[in-house]
Amino acid sequence: MRRALCSLLLFAVVAQGDEVDYSALRAELVAEVEYYAKLAWDSDEATLSADVIRSLSTVERHKFVPASERRDAYENRPLSIGHGQTISQPYIVALMTDLIAPETSDVVLEIGTGSGYQAAVLAELVDHVYTIEIIEPLFSSATARLDRLGYDNVTTQLGDGYYGWEQHAPFDAIVVTAAASHVPPPLIQQLKPGGRMVIPVGGRWMTQQLLLIEKTEQDKIITKQVAAVRFVPLTGEH
Ligand code: SAM
Repeated sequence: MRRALCSLLLFAVVAQGDEVDYSALRAELVAEVEYYAKLAWDSDEATLSADVIRSLSTVERHKFVPASERRDAYENRPLSIGHGQTISQPYIVALMTDLIAPETSDVVLEIGTGSGYQAAVLAELVDHVYTIEIIEPLFSSATARLDRLGYDNVTTQLGDGYYGWEQHAPFDAIVVTAAASHVPPPLIQQLKPGGRMVIPVGGRWMTQQLLLIEKTEQDKIITKQVAAVRFVPLTGEH
């Protein structure tokens, strides 16, 4: 009886310790992401907005990864989420979020829900996030997770994100988290004038270019190459 009680107590302390560690680890990760961003842009000044940093500090990445990956949840690298897919590197999540310059009234479309982490980071900053995932088990688990964590400003859909989500268009911003061979025309069409899209474009399983695409108020498209990245491919019948 006594031994059972001791084990129970130890379990409770370890479990509590784990929680404390997760927030400390998250703070360390955020500091690393900020440092990495300054290095990447060769800047002495902060390069990521305070809002993006706040969101990264708030969202509990360890709740978006499988149990087998949890102890690595606060490393600045992608992790497996099963089905051959990954949760993106936190620095890349921060960079893509920062590039769209989110505003509280924005409605954002994400292509590639995966674990739901990027959607949650966006949901902390904008009015509503629509997100599409093509793999059914990932769609179901991310939908349940976002619901459980209280993200009631995120709406998920199972489908091919190449075609966007016409019903809720136009969007203030679009974030594509899988590499496309070209910029999908439906996504350009569903972007608001004045809107921004970030998308990795390039070959499968090789380095791609992260593009920032801006649609001017006059419907002109301006494309900038931001960084070399590696994403899993955008799949589907398109
Ligand atoms: N944003 C995710 C997160 O925070 O966990 C990570 C995304 S993972 C790098 C890319 C995701 O895009 C995968 O879950 C993959 O199944 C999904 N995907 C690939 N092609 C797609 C398509 N045509 N439409 C929607 N999702 C797609």
